[in-house]
Amino acid sequence: MCAERPPVCDYEGSDYQTAFWEQGDRAYEDQVEALALRRLLPKAGKLLLELGAGAGRNTPRYSHFERVVLLDYSRTQLEQAQARLGRGERYVFVAADIYGLPFATGVFDAATMIRVLHHMADPALALRQVQRSLQTGGTFILEYANKQNLKAILRYLAGRQSWNPFSLDAVEFAELNFDFHPRVVKSWLEECGFDIQRTLTVSHFRISLVKRVVPLRLLVWLDGLAQWSGDLWQLTPSVFVRAKAAGELPAEGQGEGALGGLFRCPECGSSGLEEGQGYLSCPGCGRRWSSQDGIYDFRASLA
Ligand SMILES: [Zn+2]
Repeated sequence: MCAERPPVCDYEGSDYQTAFWEQGDRAYEDQVEALALRRLLPKAGKLLLELGAGAGRNTPRYSHFERVVLLDYSRTQLEQAQARLGRGERYVFVAADIYGLPFATGVFDAATMIRVLHHMADPALALRQVQRSLQTGGTFILEYANKQNLKAILRYLAGRQSWNPFSLDAVEFAELNFDFHPRVVKSWLEECGFDIQRTLTVSHFRISLVKRVVPLRLLVWLDGLAQWSGDLWQLTPSVFVRAKAAGELPAEGQGEGALGGLFRCPECGSSGLEEGQGYLSCPGCGRRWSSQDGIYDFRASLA
């Protein structure tokens, strides 16, 4: 089954958190994302799935959820998140492929996927997995990179960019880095069983000169005002969408309590994995999945 899955952009061993966020002059991007998340997240919740959690930059923003499951393909990113957040009961760390999510159907009441879709070679396949993991009516907050942004439009019109920002095809500007057209993302969400409720445009002022001369607080405040125009048009490099999982999905997991009820085997789909010493075993196919040092690892089975 794994061999049929699309390629994954793997951050194993990456210093992304330090290089991009902490030394990369991105306080503005970080703060306007935080603002969009505050506006879109439910006020309270039980179990939130953070897809592509990385080193846990956004995780403290989900503090009003009782429990957060951090999922990333890279184990070293999750180790950084553990070091930052601590282990404790509140957090569950899971290394897994987003195309084969190891969760029982309908166990989460919310999910977030921020700065992750732009690494997806098959976004619709990933979104279907997310939809299946959510309860009916569960909230999904998706951020994606918008190819039809003002900078790309101006560059295209000036003849300084070969690709057309208005066309519906994705643009892969680096390997496994895609910008998508808003209309296409909307259609994927709808096809995968989501009802879109709200769209916020984010990072209106992602221009080095502007970030240098305008005080950060003022810039964040201005972006906060402009975010509300997202339901009308989307011309920013980053777009946030709040959608609800529609349809009738029977919840088979127990969400809280036993973690065996949270997971299902990503290979055969059996639920009710049994907890052993350092592993979970699948009652369906007999595969064992590692659970060492506080990280459940579903990327490859032990046996
Ligand atoms: Zn199995």
